[in-house]
Amino acid sequence: MTFQAPKGTFDWLPPRSERVLAVRETLVSPVRQAGYGYIETPVFEDTELFKRGVGESTDVVSKEMYTFPDKAGRSLTLRPEGTAPVVRAVLQHNLHTGQLPVKLWYSGSQFRYERAQKGRYRHFWQVGAEALGAEDPALDAELIVLAWRGFRDLGLREVTLLLNSLGDKTCRPVYRAALQDFLRVLDLDEETRARIEINPLRVLDDKRPEVQEQLKGAPLVIDHLCESCKAYHEEVRGLLTACEVPFTDDPRLVRGLDYYTRTTFEFVHGGLGSQSAVGGGGRYDGLSEMLGGPSLPSVGWALGVDRTLLAMEAEGLLGDTADSRVQVYGVPLGDEARRRMFLLVEELRRAGLATDMAFGGKGLKGAMKGADRSGARFALILGDRDLAAQAVQVKDLTTAEQTEVPLAQVADVLKGKLQ
Ligand code: AMP
Repeated sequence: MTFQAPKGTFDWLPPRSERVLAVRETLVSPVRQAGYGYIETPVFEDTELFKRGVGESTDVVSKEMYTFPDKAGRSLTLRPEGTAPVVRAVLQHNLHTGQLPVKLWYSGSQFRYERAQKGRYRHFWQVGAEALGAEDPALDAELIVLAWRGFRDLGLREVTLLLNSLGDKTCRPVYRAALQDFLRVLDLDEETRARIEINPLRVLDDKRPEVQEQLKGAPLVIDHLCESCKAYHEEVRGLLTACEVPFTDDPRLVRGLDYYTRTTFEFVHGGLGSQSAVGGGGRYDGLSEMLGGPSLPSVGWALGVDRTLLAMEAEGLLGDTADSRVQVYGVPLGDEARRRMFLLVEELRRAGLATDMAFGGKGLKGAMKGADRSGARFALILGDRDLAAQAVQVKDLTTAEQTEVPLAQVADVLKGKLQ
């Protein structure tokens, strides 16, 4: 019997795996340029962190967490998202007592026990950015612009930005009550009724057509914003417009996690079917206090790396993912040649050339097949006669042209040809 990766998980294999690395680099490059520092937090945390931080009524906490006791009986949970751990780390290490905002970015695996389908996995990858400790519409706008630039830099053209405001602790409760009054008289199932009492905004997120039909006249949070939330939201919108970042106002955008206040946004892609969100985030002014910290108004986002790759595929941006691992490939013929080739390969690598060679005592035919498959531009063929002449045959695999080059000059000659 052989093993399979667990349901909802998969392996990234070469050459596609190289694209994943490149996508992550491109997505975080704008935030690094904006002064965000790298943070790495543990893959598992105290279960209570997510219960309090993400919210017990959310699907993520109530249904999707990988929770287990460790050998000492502590309840631990594989992180389902990155924001609560980042806030935990900031508070634990007192980063918030220094210069504000604290700007951090992360990249890592997240785990959610979800119904697995294309674009929705149980183990997936996010890059995220958080700015903690400042209430400033320019910071919300900055983060949105930086995420937008990341998607643009990947060449994506079909990403749309949806924008909303969820209000703050002044206006949100008033809206919440108005929404509850509206929802309580609808014809809904037991579970949804319970949700009205715990987290009514989430009911707006219900995707079932029979529920959506009844929600048509629901009050919208945007119509209930207090003056300061309204002004704040207008400022964010104005800055985005000034930066030429197009957005669509989506008064029904509530998002799945409990901690959001004011600005919320989502990046969606037209080519992904039902799992269309490639990223999302918002302001979470109350989260620090929910975790026992001081008031620390903050804003952040997380972008889905796996879905970003699917979006790139949908736009035809992944192109030819043919294997081209190395530039040069050594083909030694015989034991003596193999020892010499090993040294030559090392020399070429030190000279900055990506180089591999045939292993396993292959003959000429098998080794040349390896050269072709490696994607190398040049094969270096070394036999007994070449050794005696202190030379090597350099074969251009695109033209099949072959020339003899003295061993002492190979590195320089290849560098010249490859630059
Ligand atoms: P969230 O933390 O739910 O706001 O998610 C942020 C982004 O992570 C989403 O927009 C998706 O791109 C990605 N994401 C969330 N859940 C999954 C999942 N189960 N599988 C793959 N990507 C996901």
